[in-house]
Amino acid sequence: MLGRDHALTGAVVFAALAPTLHMPVSDLPAGVVLAAGAGVLPDIDHHDSTIASSFGFLTEGFSRVINAISGGHRHGTHSLIGVAIFTAGAWASGALQQHAHGGLTVGSFGSGALSWYMIPALVYLTLLYSSALRALRVGGHHGDLIGVAGAAVTCYLGTDVVPVTVWHWRVPFLAVAIALGCVAHIAGDELTHSGCPVLWPVSRHEFHLLPKPMRITTAKLTENRIIFPVLVILLAVAVWHAAGQSITLGPAHPGAGHTGAGHGASGTGASLGSRNAP
Ligand SMILES: [Zn+2]
Repeated sequence: MLGRDHALTGAVVFAALAPTLHMPVSDLPAGVVLAAGAGVLPDIDHHDSTIASSFGFLTEGFSRVINAISGGHRHGTHSLIGVAIFTAGAWASGALQQHAHGGLTVGSFGSGALSWYMIPALVYLTLLYSSALRALRVGGHHGDLIGVAGAAVTCYLGTDVVPVTVWHWRVPFLAVAIALGCVAHIAGDELTHSGCPVLWPVSRHEFHLLPKPMRITTAKLTENRIIFPVLVILLAVAVWHAAGQSITLGPAHPGAGHTGAGHGASGTGASLGSRNAP
């Protein structure tokens, strides 16, 4: 599947689940773009992929290292353990980012200076923003610079460590976006002829979601004329639903400083409260 459609798939899945996650509406644009970046993240194991091309020889060289470590293209990074490592990496970078401010809450970030502890989160965010913009052909030659600026603003505001609701837990938003984007990517590749070795390294069996005659060929008619337009429509509907539900159903949080209201009195109130706590 093309990087464009992997990015769209990650964005669609995240936008569709945003109300369930109690994602603050003001963070929805960043969430959708970062999930789009996460949608191309597993292909970091291929030197010619969208994400590997985002910062020239730096990301290309990094992709070759990942390729060697993960057993080649469509192996480790397209498995459950790969998703777990990507997600844990995002979680750890967020924890370091918060540690840079002595464990203070996100709202205090405005008074903090750049710290070495923030570098992993900045790198992660830059890679995701830039690859999403590149995959979606947004920003042209300036896409990478926009990605760097987006990462700096996101890190400064602490958007990536805003907790969202996953069952009974409160999980940093970036870790959730990474997990959803990577799972969406693997599901997309499982629609193609190659499939994915989800249980790697225990098993190299390649899993498919479609019977053999229905499997799609990358960049051919089915992907360009059916899957791509359907994903664009689904993304528009999902974003409209997530934003609309947030605006109409939730009362604005007093003193929250967000332009949008919550997804609901309890869920979003908790999100905003934790983000703006003294
Ligand atoms: Zn892939």
